[in-house]
Amino acid sequence: MARDQRVHDNHALLAAQSEALEQQVPLYVLFNVKVVKNRSREHYEFMLKGLEEISLELKSRNIPFVLKSGEAQQNITNVLNEINAGSVYFDFNPLSGSRSLSKKIASSFKGSTFVVDTHNIIPTWIASDKQEFAAHTMRRKVHLLLENYTLEPAKITNHPFTPNIDVESITLAQARQFIATIQSKGISITAIPGEKAAAKHLESFIRERLATYALKRNDIADDQQSGLSPYLHFGQISSLRVALEVIKYTDQQPLLFQAVKLASPGDSPSEYDGMNALLEEMVVRKELADNFCFYQKNYTSLDAGPTWAKQSLALHKSDVREFVYQRAQWENAQTHDLSWNAAQNQLRKTGKMHGYMRMYWAKKMLEWSQTPEAAIEDCIYLNDTYSIDGGDPNGYVGILWSMVGLHDRPWFERQVFGKVRYMNEGGLMRKYDVAAYQRMWNDEE
Ligand SMILES: Cc1cc2nc3c(=O)[nH]c(=O)nc-3n(C[C@H](O)[C@H](O)[C@H](O)COP(=O)(O)OP(=O)(O)OC[C@H]3O[C@@H](n4cnc5c(N)ncnc54)[C@H](O)[C@@H]3O)c2cc1C
Repeated sequence: MARDQRVHDNHALLAAQSEALEQQVPLYVLFNVKVVKNRSREHYEFMLKGLEEISLELKSRNIPFVLKSGEAQQNITNVLNEINAGSVYFDFNPLSGSRSLSKKIASSFKGSTFVVDTHNIIPTWIASDKQEFAAHTMRRKVHLLLENYTLEPAKITNHPFTPNIDVESITLAQARQFIATIQSKGISITAIPGEKAAAKHLESFIRERLATYALKRNDIADDQQSGLSPYLHFGQISSLRVALEVIKYTDQQPLLFQAVKLASPGDSPSEYDGMNALLEEMVVRKELADNFCFYQKNYTSLDAGPTWAKQSLALHKSDVREFVYQRAQWENAQTHDLSWNAAQNQLRKTGKMHGYMRMYWAKKMLEWSQTPEAAIEDCIYLNDTYSIDGGDPNGYVGILWSMVGLHDRPWFERQVFGKVRYMNEGGLMRKYDVAAYQRMWNDEE
């Protein structure tokens, strides 16, 4: 278990249990805690709380939860040898570290190795066999398959074959000591961690905000987003469960093969509109991000952008920047722009920035950095270091969409941006109460 940290609606766990039942053998779940670049201690604390719940849930089903820390390949190999495992099941992650780990294990392990995509509703390699060009090409493929995959998963059962080997596991207290070496950034994460909390959060979102989601989710001063990304990122809830619950609640099938109509002020959207808007974000956009990272190995680099954008950014490389900030100024929200500072303050205080501001925040980093490369590097650093949902394909794609026109089309040529879509504060002000947003997040000076 790595990316999908849950007991329920976990197809990797279900596949492993199904084989263990067939072979009449015990089933073990192994989780390896390791330090990942640019993540903060608060993110690990959130994760460990979730793992604590998982460990108890699994124990009550006669499935031991083995926790290790440090070098993953060695730890996994040792456990596989110790229990004389017949098969190993990994949950799927398109990012390079996870993929190379499962490949290395597959090449040295004498049993069978499987990778199960339980993060996406449609497994990445089934949704498409190539890097998709844009959301509209992905949408068509997702819509063709969605109905076949929005199926209620089986339930994990009490495992009848008792483990005969007591595999050494570190305690949660030891795991906490291990993460104590990771730098804290003083982030106050408001989401309550764990599978149960995730389910409760979903329930209240559906009841209280689904009806207004289509209209209001972009409103920076009145946050009506789902708030699901911390849970989806750590796999404490599956996007399949979210989709099944919204479909059940609205008692209507999602709108397929038509662009979702995004509500505008004056409309009175329904829960049905909310469901369609949510599925557009959580299935089309999110699964497009996994598609990109799966088929494009340079997923954190300018090189992965479309040719028109790379050429046009290169043409504007020497344009004079009105402002140029360095990483420490970004990090401490010390720019001339109060909206940008508010966004960065929201991020560093709470570990989550409003989704609409994320686009503005990244685009301004492109505008006020010496080079696009430096902008991408600093933006990834800030997003992964502070955001609870960072270190995720959605983040790398969101940053490349904002900065190098990924999945987007050319716009009008302008300074620094070239043909990459531009955003300015005036646009924010026309739509939302920017002053209220600034008051919320900028300290009184
Ligand atoms: C520069 C930039 C950086 C981003 N970094 C991240 C990140 O690190 N992690 C992350 O999960 N998302 C990231 N996003 C995408 C999006 O902003 C967040 O998913 C969203 O704000 C999370 O809050 P929510 O769950 O309340 O969103 P909601 O609007 O309620 O969306 C529900 C879910 O849909 C998915 N989703 C929504 N918008 C997008 C999108 N544009 N692309 C892909 N999936 C989407 C997410 O899983 C999200 O949890 C980034 C976007 C940009 C422009």
